[in-house]
Amino acid sequence: MPKIVELLTDTFGKNAVLPRAQAGTRVASNWRQNENLDCLALLLPETTDEVSKMLQICHEHNQPVVPHGGLTGVVGGTVTRPDEIALSLERMNQVEEINVQNKTVTVQAGVVLQHLQQVLAENGLLFPLDLGAKGSCMIGGNISSNAGGLQALRYGVMRNLVLGLEVVLADGTVLSSMNKMVKNNAGYDLKHLFIGSEGTLGVVTRAVLKVEDLPVSRSTAFVGLNSFEKATQFLQYSMKHLKNELSSFELLWQDYYSLMTSPPSPFSPVLPQTYPFYVLMETRGQDAGDGAVFETFLENALTSGLIDDASIAQTQQELDWFWGIRENVELIFSVHQPVFLFDVSLAISDMEAYIEKIKTDLQNIWADLHFYAFGHMGDGNLHLFVSCGHADHSTRHQVEDIVYQPLRQIGGSITGEHGIGLEKKAWLHLSRTAEEIQLMQTLKKALDPKGILNPGKIFLLTSL
Ligand code: ZN
Repeated sequence: MPKIVELLTDTFGKNAVLPRAQAGTRVASNWRQNENLDCLALLLPETTDEVSKMLQICHEHNQPVVPHGGLTGVVGGTVTRPDEIALSLERMNQVEEINVQNKTVTVQAGVVLQHLQQVLAENGLLFPLDLGAKGSCMIGGNISSNAGGLQALRYGVMRNLVLGLEVVLADGTVLSSMNKMVKNNAGYDLKHLFIGSEGTLGVVTRAVLKVEDLPVSRSTAFVGLNSFEKATQFLQYSMKHLKNELSSFELLWQDYYSLMTSPPSPFSPVLPQTYPFYVLMETRGQDAGDGAVFETFLENALTSGLIDDASIAQTQQELDWFWGIRENVELIFSVHQPVFLFDVSLAISDMEAYIEKIKTDLQNIWADLHFYAFGHMGDGNLHLFVSCGHADHSTRHQVEDIVYQPLRQIGGSITGEHGIGLEKKAWLHLSRTAEEIQLMQTLKKALDPKGILNPGKIFLLTSL
């Protein structure tokens, strides 16, 4: 057994330190169930104090550590090499305090998102972060990756939902800032350094999160539109007229809608497959009469020609059907292999031309290309799935080049949700200036001078 693993085992016990063989029986990622974890050891702390002492020891021994949450990331942010130690927060899974008056919840980093949603719902409260991986992803990972998801349009991304944060730095220092206030201008707001830093600056151990009243109404509709311009106008109209209750506005291009509503998909079409664009929209409110208001709203939009077709979910079954069409993205992987996925961000006014351009450029190279676009239109954030029959390194690079290069000119971002991890390092410079990247590296060096925290992630070349 390596000396460092021996030392950690002597200090924390066999229960908290799984050696390579034992760690290797677990999966490396939720998406790749056939790939096992291959690391020096897996640490399973139960308290912040343990995380601190573990990092202290690793720091002293120059031992690289990769923080692990629910392992649902898609850019390789938790990939752990054989000489690295994984540190999972899964045992720190307590919801510590629900403060109804203050509308906050205090949690440990290993709480699973869906569990938190359920516990809060039992108390009449809502934690509004919502994403496909909610059954496995953990709050610590949501914070480290600044998760976005399906309701960011109304409630913001994770960064907007964190009031206080406790982080353990690379050398074991505990930085506790469990602030419960919305306003605190006492110097730098350090929590934002760690939110979205993908575990490269510190290990998130606890957080104070903002919660909302649990909505009593939920109205959901599929809308068919004959042009992108109409989708844009309809988004503006919806934001203006739905009393700030609009929580989701998801745009689906026709190819994606048709794929998701044709066999082997289990879902039949809600509306005919003939529209070039579809919107899946949802409002959540506090008034039992919200459903009737929503119906009138859509009727008016139809009568005035703002939209071309619409259907409202009337039952829970229909609700699941509507959302299934949007969310059942795994279907793509069973129909096409291999698939490259993207999560670009750009101004709504640039979306249509951008999608047309990259689709044409890709088709010019791969005539039998499969291309699907959909996403969070209201947030300016789209998911793209590209399958061109190959997955070798140079094909991947060529596809990425076509998808990412135009974003530089229009001021978009190569990632709106997934982060950089390992997979997008080569393209970071398209979305950040040289000065920004330099400052990021200066911060990394200041907080983790030995470079032991999640090494090799985010930056292509590091000056460390
Ligand atoms: Zn998304």
